Amino acid sequence: MTNAPDFRQAPVDRQGDEAVRIEAVHKWYGAYHALKGVDLHVSRGERVVVCGPSGSGKSTLIRCVNRLERHQGGRIVVNGVELTDNLRDIDAVRRDVGMVFQHFNLFPHLSVLDNCVMPLVLARKTARAEAEATARHFLERVRIPEQADKFPGRLSGGQQQRVAIARALCMRPKIMLFDEPTSALDPEMVREVLDTMVGLAEDGMTMIVVTHEMGFARRVADRVVFMDGGEIVESASPDIFFSRPASDRTQAFLGQILP
Ligand code: ADP
Ligand code: MG
Repeated sequence: MTNAPDFRQAPVDRQGDEAVRIEAVHKWYGAYHALKGVDLHVSRGERVVVCGPSGSGKSTLIRCVNRLERHQGGRIVVNGVELTDNLRDIDAVRRDVGMVFQHFNLFPHLSVLDNCVMPLVLARKTARAEAEATARHFLERVRIPEQADKFPGRLSGGQQQRVAIARALCMRPKIMLFDEPTSALDPEMVREVLDTMVGLAEDGMTMIVVTHEMGFARRVADRVVFMDGGEIVESASPDIFFSRPASDRTQAFLGQILP
């Protein structure tokens, strides 16, 4: 990406419709160059699907957006706040960004309800009664209100992932990041989680979704991004991405994963 434009002097857009701006971002793990000058702009309400082979940097990229990983070159601006070492800014970004992981990451010793309630009580200082009302609202939204009092271990994988989505929504994020949310699920449970995500998309949530569920990409993505070797190789509307991808690498990848 030698000809990448330099946006570093551009003013930060606080009012406009920009949700995430990633510019010329580099990330190293020790000597390993995991992100090699990545540019990605996401507008409010936009749904971006990120795909690519294992090890291509997909998780690293979205983890940089809520500072689970620290980028070392370039610039990341989330809802008008640039991610630097400033802890208040990092906090502000994390308030706006919810994340759902492959392995749910629920607390096994807390009920489903408390998994949703505790972050509100502890991190947001929300009163217990109000937090509970919010949690029940979002458990209803992901269609498992009846599981509220169970421990996560008693639920199916698909149900646990829907709890994880509800837990993230309780924090009223403006942007949701998903890192292969259905990859750990038995095939018969993939659908219920994807349906939940389609619902979120239809409600206008800004979403960056790492997934190989190309049916989902076709249905809800505004844009599909293909990563390989720490770079964005292709970024196109689903129509173009699936019918006439520009890059050989994209074609080879699609050849492997599409039926
Ligand atoms: P993907 O999500 O596309 O499979 P990742 O972003 O997880 O890829 O990883 C990109 C590359 O960075 C891989 O080669 C991986 O081994 C490496 N990597 C990821 N996390 C770490 C880490 N914490 N320490 C060292 N290397 C890492
Ligand atoms: Mg990954």
